Amino acid sequence: MNFSTLSGYYEKLEGTSKRLELIDILSKLFKQARADEIAEICYLIQGRVAPFFEPIEIGMAENMVAVAIARAFNKKKADVIKIYRKLGNMGKAAQELSRNHKSQITNHKLTASEVFEELLKIAKFSGEGTVEKKVSTLSELLKKLDPISVKHVVNIPLGTLRLGIGGPTVLDALSLSKNHDKSFRPILEDAYNKTSDLGFVAEIFFKKGIEAVKNTKIIVGKPVRPALAERLPSAEEAIKRLGREFAAEPKFDGFRVQVHLDRSGVQLFSRNLENTTHAFPDIVEGVKKEVKAKTAILEGEAIAYNPVTSEFLPFQETTKRRRKYKIEEMAKKLPLVIFAFDLLYINGKDITLKPYRERRKLLESIVSKNGGVVKIAEEKILKSAKEITEFFNKAISEGLEGLMLKKLDSPYVAGGRGFHWVKFKRSQAGELADTVDCVLLGVYTGKGKRTEFGVGGLLVGVYNDKKDEFVSITRLGTGLTDDEFRKVNEISKKIKVNQKPARVNSDISPSYWVEPKVVLEIQADEITRSPIHTAGRDKDGSGYALRFPRLVKFREKDKRAEDATTVDEIKKLYNQQFSHHKTPTSHKASRGKVIDKERFL
Ligand code: ATP
Repeated sequence: MNFSTLSGYYEKLEGTSKRLELIDILSKLFKQARADEIAEICYLIQGRVAPFFEPIEIGMAENMVAVAIARAFNKKKADVIKIYRKLGNMGKAAQELSRNHKSQITNHKLTASEVFEELLKIAKFSGEGTVEKKVSTLSELLKKLDPISVKHVVNIPLGTLRLGIGGPTVLDALSLSKNHDKSFRPILEDAYNKTSDLGFVAEIFFKKGIEAVKNTKIIVGKPVRPALAERLPSAEEAIKRLGREFAAEPKFDGFRVQVHLDRSGVQLFSRNLENTTHAFPDIVEGVKKEVKAKTAILEGEAIAYNPVTSEFLPFQETTKRRRKYKIEEMAKKLPLVIFAFDLLYINGKDITLKPYRERRKLLESIVSKNGGVVKIAEEKILKSAKEITEFFNKAISEGLEGLMLKKLDSPYVAGGRGFHWVKFKRSQAGELADTVDCVLLGVYTGKGKRTEFGVGGLLVGVYNDKKDEFVSITRLGTGLTDDEFRKVNEISKKIKVNQKPARVNSDISPSYWVEPKVVLEIQADEITRSPIHTAGRDKDGSGYALRFPRLVKFREKDKRAEDATTVDEIKKLYNQQFSHHKTPTSHKASRGKVIDKERFL
């Protein structure tokens, strides 16, 4: 496919924010793609040259890109910046200069693959002279493209290609491109959940067909989208779902780590599938020494832990380890322990379909008993609500977050919330039983004292996974410390956009919109119905809203926007409020406090 054909599709995609139209346009694009270029096209439409989990960023600053544009079209950098200021987008500025450039090539024959290769080259330059190499490669590339292609290619290294295409949209379009309907979507999604790589799945689909996609196995080196837990209002409800006997483990309040081990070494992936290997050299070393397997994929929760006193440190301490600089120094100061809780792959075999109790046995067989870094999460096999409450109390009194209950015969279900895992978290009286992970949608600029922070309030939303869009659920004006307001300001300045983003559905407008990217964990007292917000809006125009919201933590490092709480989960939480004496708000517990048994049960 010629790149100019692809950029024609970029134009069409940019022109709509309606999901069905996006899917339709994308499926037409995919129909035109060959099997050996479909993977590259899948990455390019998301502004990437690799799957999201690979730490390959084209990453060029505005200044660098402006120099490349100036060189390509015989202008001065200052001229480029001037037009950029006028048009508000570097791609548009480059397009205008390209249009007016006399020696513009008219016979545009660069293919999508060739452009992909050049962009990949730019991403991979390193060491001495990197800036010059990136600038000259980009400027040479721009010279060979038509004005519309120039616009889109410029937006890729800047990360400003905003087509609003999420994973579910690509999966629907892939199905539609080969099957005239969306019926292949669940199979494609399953393979995506196992590999987190849209390009990889699309290539199998195009080269080998849907049966081959069905047989996709998990692979060391490609992160598996994590299995997630459901919430239930009471221990009795949990027992109904989990069966006569079930496993219970403490819910550690750290961050999830997926460990991939093979002959080439150890790789670590975060909850949102980022490769975080470089950030945790202590875990990497610990796994090498303490996990006895040739190849394995295991999961655990990393938490700062004092082995001398057996004390778990609070999340605020653990999270200090997620940093870009002074990594070794912090690793010594605040060593992490990983509490392993599941095994997905062992010595060349995908074991996700084996029942949990077998996976757990295999996990125990490969983790050294007396290691200092990798430990097995404590597990109890329970049968009654009374036992759940006792174990829950013990976990809380040790400063942990609550309990995870697990069905003994369930497979590992990648990428989905299900009743194979049920979570119970500590919460204060008068609070919702769980926090809500919201996506920052926009910012209200400050008034009075808050002008100093640049932020006076926030508009946040949740994710509607059926429609692949973000819907508003509350405004947040209080419940943030001064430092948190400053942090929000810092983050939102970087992701500020001029108009409501394609995937945002909201009736109210903040002072400015941001790209839906940053997840904030929010505690509220209650979920109410409200005509203001679009979350779960019904025919009568009533949606859901959070009452008395306050910020618990920033989750920008371990959750992607699509990992935020979904509208369906909000509905469930809303209904659970009314389940009478079993109401989750009757959990009366806090860190270090033992809960009142009667009320929890
Ligand atoms: P949360 O915000 O409550 O951590 P989440 O959306 O990340 O939730 P859930 O499925 O709701 O995910 O809860 C499971 C999370 O709890 C896992 O992602 C993991 O990070 C953490 N966790 C802590 N201890 C355990 C455990 N023993 N088993 C499984 N997960 C655990």
